[in-house]
Amino acid sequence: MGALQIADVREDVARLAASFRTPTVAAELGKRLVEAGHDEALRLVHDVFLAEADDRLQRRVDRLRRASNLPPGKTLDTFDLTRLPRPLVRKIQDLATGRFLDDAANGLAFGLPGTGKTHVCAAIGHALVQQGHSVLFIPTFRLVQDLLAAKRDLDLPRALRKLDNFELLILDDIGYVKQDADEIEVLFTLMAERYERRSMLITSNLVFSQWDRIFKNPMTTAAAIDRLVHHSVILEFDVDSYRTKKAKK
Ligand code: ADP
Ligand code: MG
Repeated sequence: MGALQIADVREDVARLAASFRTPTVAAELGKRLVEAGHDEALRLVHDVFLAEADDRLQRRVDRLRRASNLPPGKTLDTFDLTRLPRPLVRKIQDLATGRFLDDAANGLAFGLPGTGKTHVCAAIGHALVQQGHSVLFIPTFRLVQDLLAAKRDLDLPRALRKLDNFELLILDDIGYVKQDADEIEVLFTLMAERYERRSMLITSNLVFSQWDRIFKNPMTTAAAIDRLVHHSVILEFDVDSYRTKKAKK
């Protein structure tokens, strides 16, 4: 890598200073140093600013990881992708780039228990946190309980706003518990709120044709599926259970 032209250094110092929210530094520092003939000093300032930007990203990633509730260790590094069909692997790798967040697209992981749905979705979450995205991993039954408690306290809008701060919600095991009308309603409200604005990754042991077990009412089921599928990547875990395979070995 050759040395940057001083004009480029100056531009980058201004960009970094702006990202630190110090607009006067951004406008003045490079200009004054260059005018006073201190090009070398500007290069040094640039190095320090780059280090500051790195530290800030690292601190942000640490903060995001703590807030994410992601199961530690369930990353792509610890997952054996060779067990999955190629097209599924490609979809997973594409989701891990985070591009789907820009379109508020969703991911739906289906498959029998033990096939790696939760691990893969958590791994995508970890990859996105590493890039500085805000993610919340939560078992669906817990989310529903939290929202119902908020609703009882007439605090549902605030609870929903808090969830809205996350670029990605990972709802693990939708349809794992039998849900009553109230539970379905809060889940449905959440999905409607996020629709076309914010992404979700959802894991389920039930295929769509069984989703009436989650939403009971066929109209509600159809509406929920319609919204979800509209912008989503379907991840079908059509493989043997990892646990059974391991136990057999
Ligand atoms: P599901 O959510 O589909 O029920 P999990 O993701 O919980 O399955 O996987 C079950 C267990 O097996 C977890 O401990 C997970 O880490 C592990 N596992 C599943 N598939 C793989 C894989 N391909 N490579 C490594 N570990 C796996
Ligand atoms: Mg699971």
